Amino acid sequence: MMNSQQDRKAKFIVYTIEECPACGQKTKRAFQLGDYVTKDGSKCSKCGNTTKITSIYAEAPPKT
Ligand SMILES: [Zn+2]
Repeated sequence: MMNSQQDRKAKFIVYTIEECPACGQKTKRAFQLGDYVTKDGSKCSKCGNTTKITSIYAEAPPKT
């Protein structure tokens, strides 16, 4: 009755890692359509440089 949806949908979550070439800061965020490795990411939260996407991967959601 309570767990109707969670049981049957084991959907993988895709993440994008953005890395700053200047200071090495890495940011993990949810994948967005159009993302690809080497694409420019958002501004670095530390130094303001433009980050690059260095990896994209899927992760299984934690089982509850
Ligand atoms: Zn930086």
